[in-house]
Amino acid sequence: MQIQKNISLKKYNTFGIDVKAKYLAELSDESKITELISSLKENTDRYILGGGSNTLFTKDFDGIIIKNSIQGIKNIDEDENFVFIKSGAGVNWHKLVKYTIKNNYWGIENLSLIPGTVGAAPIQNIGAYGQELKKVFYKLKGFDLQKNEFKSFIFDKCKFGYRESIFKKEHKNKFLITSVTLKLSKKENLILTYQPVKDEIDRLKISKPSISQISEIICNIRRSKLPDPNKLGNAGSFFKNPEISEQQYLSLKNEFDDLKGFKNEFNNYKISAGWLIEKCGWKGKRTGDVASFEKQALVLVNYGNATGKDILYFAQNIKKSVKEKFDITLEEEINII
Ligand SMILES: Cc1cc2nc3c(=O)[nH]c(=O)nc-3n(C[C@H](O)[C@H](O)[C@H](O)COP(=O)(O)OP(=O)(O)OC[C@H]3O[C@@H](n4cnc5c(N)ncnc54)[C@H](O)[C@@H]3O)c2cc1C
Repeated sequence: MQIQKNISLKKYNTFGIDVKAKYLAELSDESKITELISSLKENTDRYILGGGSNTLFTKDFDGIIIKNSIQGIKNIDEDENFVFIKSGAGVNWHKLVKYTIKNNYWGIENLSLIPGTVGAAPIQNIGAYGQELKKVFYKLKGFDLQKNEFKSFIFDKCKFGYRESIFKKEHKNKFLITSVTLKLSKKENLILTYQPVKDEIDRLKISKPSISQISEIICNIRRSKLPDPNKLGNAGSFFKNPEISEQQYLSLKNEFDDLKGFKNEFNNYKISAGWLIEKCGWKGKRTGDVASFEKQALVLVNYGNATGKDILYFAQNIKKSVKEKFDITLEEEINII
C-alpha cells in the first residue's frame, strides 16, 4: 500500500484547514489493514479519517492519517418486512441514502445530505430531523488496532447516545470500522416528528409523501439553512445541544419566552446550543476569517484562510460567553486534533 509523506490535509477536511500530516495511507481494501498496521512503528500516532466533516485540525499531525476509502453497498439478507444492507465504511453517506431511496428501503431518508462517510456515522450516532443512526443500526465490523484483530459490534455493545458511542469514548482511534450493516424497513415508515418537515408537506399539499419526496424536502431545508462545505468551510454543528436540569430550564424559561426545550427520559431538558450562542450576540459575528454562520449560529465557518487554532480560539470565546450568561458549559461535538 502506498503511504504518502508530508501531505497537506486541506482537501481532506471540510473546514479546509491547511495542516500537514507526516504520513497518509488511503485504505480501500480491508484485507490490507494488517499489512498497513504491521508496517507502522508501535508509537506512531494514528488518526482515522473519513470525509473530515466532523474534524478540526489545529496543528500538523506527526503520525499517520488512515483515510478510510473502503467501498461497496450490498443487500445481505431480507425478510418480508426488513432488508439488511452492508456498506463499506468509506462509502459516502449520502450515496448510501440515495441507494436506499431508489430501492424504497425506509429508515435513513431523514438523514439525507449529511456529509461524510458511512464508517463515521456510528461514531457520533448521526442524527437529524427526528431520526438517529442507532434506530436502524444492525451491526458493524472493524479492526482493533491494539489487539490486531477483526471484531464485530452489535447494537447493545455500541453504547449509542446523543452524538455519542463507545467509538467516540474508550475505543476512540483504537478501532477502525470497515463496514456497517443497517436494518431498513421495506414498508413505509414516515418520521414526521420535526415540525418544519411537516409544515413543508402541508405547504406542498402532499397527502402521502413518498420516500424520495421526504428526502427532497429535507435536502431543501438543509440547503436553505446550512452552508455548503464545498463553498464555505465548516463542519456542521460545532457544539452539542446541552441538556440541563428541569429547575434550570424553568428558571431560564421564566426569563426567555422563546426558549424551547425537549424533555428526556431523565427529566432533563435538551435546549438549542444555537439559541444560546445567538442570545450571546455571536450569530453572524466574524473575526478575521472565522465566523459564526449568519443563518445558524452553531455552525462556525472558515472564510478562507482561518487556521484550526483561529477557529478553536473563536469557539472557546463562544463557550466562555455562554458560560458567563447562562451558566451552561457547551461541549464540542466535533473532534479536535
Ligand atoms: C454542513 C454539515 C452538516 C452536518 N450535519 C450533520 C447532522 O445533521 N447530523 C450529524 O450528526 N452530523 C452532521 N454533520 C457532521 C458530520 O457530517 C458527521 O459527523 C459525519 O458522520 C462525519 O463523517 P466523516 O466521515 O466526515 O467523519 P470524520 O470527520 O472523517 O471523522 C469523524 C470521527 O470519526 C472517526 N472515524 C471516521 N471514520 C472512521 C472509521 N472508519 N473507523 C473509526 N473511526 C472513524 C474519526 O477518527 C473522527 O473521530 C454535519 C457536517 C457538515 C459539514
